[in-house]
Amino acid sequence: MPPVDLNTSVPHSARIYDYLLGGKDNFEADRQAAAAIVESSPSLPISMRANRQYMARVAHYLAAERGIRQFLDIGTGLPTSPNLHEVVQKVDPTTKIVYVDNDPIVLVHARALLTSAPEGATAYLDADLRNVEQILSSPEVKLNIDPTRPVSISLIAVLQFITDENEAHQILDGLLAPFPAGSTLSISTVTAHNPQAVAAAASYRARGIPAKERTDAEVTDLFRGLDLLDPGVVLVNRWRPDTDPVDDAHVQMSGGVAVKN
Ligand code: SAH
Repeated sequence: MPPVDLNTSVPHSARIYDYLLGGKDNFEADRQAAAAIVESSPSLPISMRANRQYMARVAHYLAAERGIRQFLDIGTGLPTSPNLHEVVQKVDPTTKIVYVDNDPIVLVHARALLTSAPEGATAYLDADLRNVEQILSSPEVKLNIDPTRPVSISLIAVLQFITDENEAHQILDGLLAPFPAGSTLSISTVTAHNPQAVAAAASYRARGIPAKERTDAEVTDLFRGLDLLDPGVVLVNRWRPDTDPVDDAHVQMSGGVAVKN
């Protein structure tokens, strides 16, 4: 592996996120940025955990109830238990997962994502999600994702960093284009309906990280051309909740799941 420049003096979204989730893969600049962001948005750590639980519920639903056996997860973040492959390989250990992120520190820790059940596979691809062609033509995707079978594409807590709607649509359309009906798109992103979420997005921007909040209508529009599943676009804690209820006031992400027809 070539040496990676972690550029530790500049805050990075993956490491800020890691710090707020209680991880240790972060540096002083990330901790300072996180502290400032939490000051304007104190419930952010609760929201991030609720988002992580949403990711796990969505993944379990897609594996257990829709029979999806291949997952392309974009903007994966640092390994955090449970990781997506752990959730879906519990349902079927032959399931294959390709993870994608563009943060060098996620790359450094990617080994912890490569703990597939022997019957299945996990792969990690270091790529910018704006480079859809690079992702789809990568050996990681070619080897692990069968384009004749439905695939789950997930972008969890990452589209807030794609601030141009046209670009977001191009990315999503491009990602889904090669895959058959029955493939799914799962999203969560920063909601405009919570003042703390709006403050958090502003706080990222103030630290040089472009970020935006979206209304539920804007998030719904990200799914255009697809069949949005019940309950539609909601705060992530309200998407098919199981245990561990989280108060809406603390939740800064909304999202949903849709199927290609
Ligand atoms: N999906 C995880 C992590 C969310 S944090 C979860 O919900 O827990 C957002 C992640 O998106 C970070 O790891 C960051 O590095 C990644 N990211 C941000 N912009 C990206 C881009 N343009 N391409 C690929 N990954 C990106």
